[in-house]
Amino acid sequence: MKVLVPVKRVVDYNVKVRVKSDQSGVDIANVKMSMNPFDEIAVEEATRLKEKGVATEVVAVSCGVTQSQETLRTAMAIGADRAILVESTVELQPLAVAKLLKALVDKEQPQLVILGKQAIDDDSNQTGQMLAALLGWPQATFASKVEVADGKATVTREVDGGLETLSLTLPAVITTDLRLNEPRYVTLPNIMKAKKKPLETVKPEDLGVDVAPRLKTLKVAEPPARQAGVKVADVAALVDKLKNEAKVV
Ligand code: AMP
Repeated sequence: MKVLVPVKRVVDYNVKVRVKSDQSGVDIANVKMSMNPFDEIAVEEATRLKEKGVATEVVAVSCGVTQSQETLRTAMAIGADRAILVESTVELQPLAVAKLLKALVDKEQPQLVILGKQAIDDDSNQTGQMLAALLGWPQATFASKVEVADGKATVTREVDGGLETLSLTLPAVITTDLRLNEPRYVTLPNIMKAKKKPLETVKPEDLGVDVAPRLKTLKVAEPPARQAGVKVADVAALVDKLKNEAKVV
């Protein structure tokens, strides 16, 4: 069974992003970029399926600029066998990515696609769902446990107020939640090995996909600055402030 894992290059989660002065977006010049954390979890899960003998091949895919190769090398250092870069300098929105992934699924014929539940830069939480719709495949989003056997995936999902367990017939799309696993630490020998693994580059045109953006960002703004707190003398003063200033009690 082949598993396809889409991985996105995003601003590292430790970076405090700054909004550009013209409010057209966030400044990503000279900022550390990394693999989207939910995608690391997806690569880890696919690698574990391979180690268990359930999957035979793990293929990592990234859509974006040339530097996304680094993200794909990280995916291969975790355990992906090979990688495909769909190279484009155009801003790729979730629908465009889903269409590119659909074209790759048609070509590669995986039984399972494991994506992150959302990319931490656009917070869209759309690509997996759109891909499942385009493919007409079953989907289980926000997975916290995945078991694959006998042509089926059993997926536990974190939903409001508890856990839901779904059974999907493969082929299927799964998106990962934070608690699915803890990705392994990438070791130097594995980084070296990953350099020798195959990385193929294609263009959206080769896949016959129109990636023109459909959404226009009107404005990106910083959240309002928080006001400084004050120290109160005693509980009575606190209760007074909660009652008469904040009006919450
Ligand atoms: P989003 O819908 O943008 O929140 O992204 C959800 C998931 O789709 C991510 O966690 C990735 O697994 C995948 N994805 C989104 N954009 C890309 C991209 N440019 N290249 C590869 N995978 C992507």
